[in-house]
Amino acid sequence: MMCIAVANQKGGVAKTTTVTSLGTAMSELGYRVLLVDLDPQACMTFSLGLDPDSLELSVHDVLLGQVSPSMVLQKTEDGPDLLPATIDLAGAEAMLLTRTGREYALRNALDDLQEAVADDGEPYDVVLLDCPPSLGVLTINGLTAATEVLIPLQCETLSHRGVGQLLDTIADVRKMTNRKLKVRGILPTMFDARTTHARDVLDDVAMRYKLPVLDPPIARSIRFAEAPAAGRSIMRTARRAKGAEAYRIHAREIMESSGIAAKGDERVGK
Ligand code: ADP
Ligand code: MG
Repeated sequence: MMCIAVANQKGGVAKTTTVTSLGTAMSELGYRVLLVDLDPQACMTFSLGLDPDSLELSVHDVLLGQVSPSMVLQKTEDGPDLLPATIDLAGAEAMLLTRTGREYALRNALDDLQEAVADDGEPYDVVLLDCPPSLGVLTINGLTAATEVLIPLQCETLSHRGVGQLLDTIADVRKMTNRKLKVRGILPTMFDARTTHARDVLDDVAMRYKLPVLDPPIARSIRFAEAPAAGRSIMRTARRAKGAEAYRIHAREIMESSGIAAKGDERVGK
């Protein structure tokens, strides 16, 4: 099972948008997709049409080992399943700190869930993790559970500050908990082709950190900013927007590189 952590400790770089968009696109391709909201602000949970304040259980309870992940699982209208967040997750950081093996809480939970759904004949092909804007225990849990990391980066001057710190954290995780963790690369987001400096920022980042920069970039679009309030992914509300098409290209490439064949029904049009 492929598990992609979408991480960058900077807020507002389109982590959440990237997770919901790629997830919906993968689901359109017929893959079984699980999304995990690791952000106490629960923006992804909200943007997929759930009210975090009215949820009894969340990924918080799962990480603390209080309930099995399948009890927390939600279906979404956009196709993927979701392990939702609530504000309780803000306390998970502190509560996990005193626990042995705290870095492995999510990985173990995902293994349990995968076993449970596989018993019903529908294992997940891919899991996407929406990491919070910090490099704390929750992000470490994400990086420990992941097979690879995708780093969204807003193409503006100095937006790359912090990438070095993230790469240091990834190096630590490789040493301590997850040897095989790969970095897929940087995904340029909110890209404005009209400014030459967006391109310069990308070239600079690619050289500085020796990371692949994924192509095509995700164009900036006002349609994206409107989507979260609609409770549906931009893949649905702005189906033909350039950014939506770009996410589809990345979803296809990622799944093709994984060698996992789609077996589900086509969910397009749901
Ligand atoms: P993060 O999870 O990194 O904090 P979000 O995905 O929540 O970032 O995105 C931050 C804001 O930018 C949201 O309001 C979102 O709708 C908006 N946004 C994301 N991608 C784009 C885009 N390509 N064009 C315009 N706005 C975008
Ligand atoms: Mg977010």
